[in-house]
Amino acid sequence: MPKETMSLTELPMTSTPIIDPFGRAISYLRVSVTDRCDFRCVYCMSENMSFLPKKDLLTLEELERVCRAFVDLGVRKLRLTGGEPLVRRNVMQLINNLGQLIDQGKLEELTLTTNGSQLERFAPALVDAGVRRVNVSLDTLDHQKFKNITRWGRLEQVLGGLEAAKRAGLAIKINAVALKGVNEDEIENMLAWCGEEGFDLTLIEVMPMGDIGGEERLDQYLPLSLVRSRLQKRFTLEESNHRTGGPARYFDIRETGQRIGFITPLTHNFCEDCNRVRLTCTGTLFMCLGQDDDADLRSPLRASDDDMALKQAIHNAIERKPKGHDFVIDRRQGAKSVGRHMSVTGG
Ligand code: SAM
Ligand code: SF4
Repeated sequence: MPKETMSLTELPMTSTPIIDPFGRAISYLRVSVTDRCDFRCVYCMSENMSFLPKKDLLTLEELERVCRAFVDLGVRKLRLTGGEPLVRRNVMQLINNLGQLIDQGKLEELTLTTNGSQLERFAPALVDAGVRRVNVSLDTLDHQKFKNITRWGRLEQVLGGLEAAKRAGLAIKINAVALKGVNEDEIENMLAWCGEEGFDLTLIEVMPMGDIGGEERLDQYLPLSLVRSRLQKRFTLEESNHRTGGPARYFDIRETGQRIGFITPLTHNFCEDCNRVRLTCTGTLFMCLGQDDDADLRSPLRASDDDMALKQAIHNAIERKPKGHDFVIDRRQGAKSVGRHMSVTGG
């Protein structure tokens, strides 16, 4: 069978997704394959990050086993993220093996969120593995600003990666974090550029996750309601019924024919139709990006070669999926709502 994206109804279902206590079907797993990264984005990491000891990380084989267990339990979409997923050694081995689940009709989609730095090298291999689209994070088209935001990144490297991804036939969505006083004056131009390149764009409000050293969340926070009303002066945004079960709301842009999404965890409650859980590279499962409750999957994984205990642990965890998150950025309560970094849970 070709590795095309199939709709849920076309899939020979091995099992139906687990339903959580609030009636939500859990069909989407995001997997942070590493907490390491070749960039140090100011809203994501401090410059002197300490990373997890290598021994705590799941091996690629263990990550694959957990992913397969989730697929057996009804997950239909896998997104690999990080840290930077493409800097994990031999990550293509994992991606190739997971891609086979698409061939076998067990998985609808395998995709990645990446900073794009390694795409030039990996784009053709990703397509061969069955990946059809990627999210690439890019907050600015200005070389100096790019350096200021990512600290260690080079814009040319990411633009080269995007070109390679396009050539390889990957559909591309750009993720941009809206940062007050940093890229807010550029967002219109980025939307126009995405239109020319054939990319969709999703804007993200900065979220209060982890200590980032020095930078103040309140100073970075730019409400997307404001950005949207500014964009509407130049573009016609038509509400789209496109949904991913995530925190984004989408609009079609009449002038460019592309789509724009707004991820507004702080100004809009998106939890009612949440379909996802998140696995860290150490085998901890977070049932909600904005809550601290977690479940250890590494112990049941390592306790036995069969997956019974692991699958039971997954079931038990989903039973505890909370109704919603508690993010807050305000002056009274401060801005750190969950202690872990985004690079640990995976954005
Ligand atoms: N390294 C990859 C990348 O940058 O795309 C994948 C991991 S990164 C943690 C995933 C996404 O989270 C990126 O789009 C990044 O901009 C976003 N992100 C990181 N920290 C954030 C924060 N505090 N608030 C909002 N978005 C954040
Ligand atoms: Fe790395 Fe992505 Fe975090 Fe930037 S946002 S530091 S690229 S993990």
